Amino acid sequence: MLLPRVRIAPSPTGNLHIGTARVALFNYLFAKNQNGVFVLRIEDTDIERSDKKYEQSIFDGLRWLGIDPDEGPEQGGPYAPYRQTERTETYEKYIRQLLAEGKAFYCFHSEKELAEEKGRMMAEKRVLLHSCTHRDTAPAEAHARAAETSDFIIRFKTPAGRRIEFTDLIRGTVAFESDLLGDFSIAKRPNVPLYNFAVVADDYEMKITHVIRGEDHITNTPKQMLIAETLGFPMPEYAHLPLILGPDRSKLSKRHGATSIDEYRAQGYLPEALFNFMALVGWNPGDDREIMSKEELIRDFLLEKVQKSGAVFDVQKLDWMNGEYIRRKSVTELVDLCMPFFGGVTSEKDRAYLGKVIALEQPRLKKLSEIAERVGYFFSEPEYDKELLRWKKVTDADIRTSLERAEKVLSGISDEAAKAKLERVFLDEIGGGDRGSLLWPVRVALSGKKASPGPFEIMEILGKEESLARIRGALKKMA
Ligand code: GLU
Repeated sequence: MLLPRVRIAPSPTGNLHIGTARVALFNYLFAKNQNGVFVLRIEDTDIERSDKKYEQSIFDGLRWLGIDPDEGPEQGGPYAPYRQTERTETYEKYIRQLLAEGKAFYCFHSEKELAEEKGRMMAEKRVLLHSCTHRDTAPAEAHARAAETSDFIIRFKTPAGRRIEFTDLIRGTVAFESDLLGDFSIAKRPNVPLYNFAVVADDYEMKITHVIRGEDHITNTPKQMLIAETLGFPMPEYAHLPLILGPDRSKLSKRHGATSIDEYRAQGYLPEALFNFMALVGWNPGDDREIMSKEELIRDFLLEKVQKSGAVFDVQKLDWMNGEYIRRKSVTELVDLCMPFFGGVTSEKDRAYLGKVIALEQPRLKKLSEIAERVGYFFSEPEYDKELLRWKKVTDADIRTSLERAEKVLSGISDEAAKAKLERVFLDEIGGGDRGSLLWPVRVALSGKKASPGPFEIMEILGKEESLARIRGALKKMA
């Protein structure tokens, strides 16, 4: 059996978008599940908007996520080149063929005329399509005119009265009427193709078997099928993925938060978590599994199980999942991962200290980027409002008494006391009394925070002297 060959064809006009990454992931999972090939093709024909830095963002983002193309501009491959700007000869060959066969034609309508026609159609509430009066101009005449002016575009001669039908692997039968397509444009010049044309030529040349892409392209499919049919190319299978929606069920956009993979990376999401999470945006394994490894996802991915309706991108679920992946890391790995979020912690001693601090936060952490803010008090004395020291409605004098008791208890303990020992001594001191009134101000004195790990864990890491200094600092605030 022919092994599948699939592709993504992003335009380098922005940083790798979460929507593109999700399309890439579904293509990748499908290909790997079937021992097929995943191709990356860069659709850079829009020279004005394309930029190498965005191409790099696509390469880097996919690599970071672990969605590695088998063929592409960086990897090379049997159908190179994989950038459209480097493939113009191929397009020109096919466009000239269509022009010569009278299956495409030069349209000399000016932009102004086309805009006026569009205005009329809108006023009459008609479908916006251009059925071109130039379609039947004799090829020789049109060709001669095209040699003299640059004011033309090349259009496909859409056949009238055709029903174009395909079986979408996700949606089932989808049908379009050719009369609603108009004579759509396919190229600006024979060597400057437009999207619908270039994609067909490339998919054919690169032996793509399955076109798996966003639902927003579904109306392009009949156009592409007509072009492929006219050129005698075999038809690929099609699968249109549901759009990604924000929590308000409108199309995911900047309004809903981060949309580029770079932003998620900068916020401290782990690539494995994002990989797992994105796979579940519009797909599920048919049972209640949520945390799934790459291998499991590849093994169990089924295109037929992709949902038809829009898929909500739930950031809270991503945060939960990221936390789960953080918990699966060893402390050493986590220190490495958190390092970029701290400035200037480099020495081995610092690393050991950082390890203790990070281990303390590991059970709670959702994003790596939270780490510096959460544990800042381990590196410098915290600043806080003295009111934070107040447990319930106790008086200033009560707070002072608690802090003095804590100072006394701690002074009597050996330097290297571990958490269990500290806890025992403090609880002995409290006896049957109220824990909160002693421990709350101590914890705040140490951390400066309303919420933090418990005082004994913090004291163990800070050490006796630093803990005493902070308790004394709190006493000074209360003086
Ligand atoms: N450049 C298009 C996109 O990224 C490619 C669509 C396609 O896969 O045909 O949306």
